[in-house]
Amino acid sequence: MIREIVAGAKSLLFPQLCLGCRLPLTEALLCPKCLKGLPFSGVPLRRVPGRRLDLWVSPFLYEGVIKELILEMKYRGQLSLARPGAGWMTAAVQGAAEELSPEWIVPVPLHPARLRERTFNQAQALAQPLAQALKLPCRGDVLERRKPTPPQTGLSRLERLENVRGAFSLRPGAVVQASSVLLVDDVFTTGATLEACAQVLKKTGVSRVAAVTLARG
Ligand SMILES: [Zn+2]
Repeated sequence: MIREIVAGAKSLLFPQLCLGCRLPLTEALLCPKCLKGLPFSGVPLRRVPGRRLDLWVSPFLYEGVIKELILEMKYRGQLSLARPGAGWMTAAVQGAAEELSPEWIVPVPLHPARLRERTFNQAQALAQPLAQALKLPCRGDVLERRKPTPPQTGLSRLERLENVRGAFSLRPGAVVQASSVLLVDDVFTTGATLEACAQVLKKTGVSRVAAVTLARG
């Protein structure tokens, strides 16, 4: 009873707003206008020849509403995007199920200092509902970020690769028992971060490392 009253009062105080334009909504997370304007990437699957990361998929381009939502999630802790975001990512992965066929879902880890400051890892927030929907284990306990890499914004691909060199490693005691792993992150820009994670996983004998990100830059 008390719970219902609190929920009722909350919905009066904080009516559901469109995640894109903040217009009040009765249902869904985006108003029809923002939903129509979503920057779908249109390219379901990318192959990465000659790299450690074999394949990647992103349902969206990193622009417009999606860019704003990712920034909100990352820097303002607005996690209401995580579940619908993971829903779009799930659809993208299912669309390429045969080629991806992952056994484990592994979110890109944050450095412990960054995690303390942000209190959550946006990659993990996306990976958990994604893994649930795909009925696969979400293994946030496999990789660790040892180097607190400075933000990658404005760096070239080579600079980014240098920036993340040696930044990731296996967690002490972690045993990887999967031959196909799907990495999860919010944005694919040059792929340097995912590449560095893939390198660690491949050294343990994982034969295929693919990635899904909500958007690609
Ligand atoms: Zn809207």
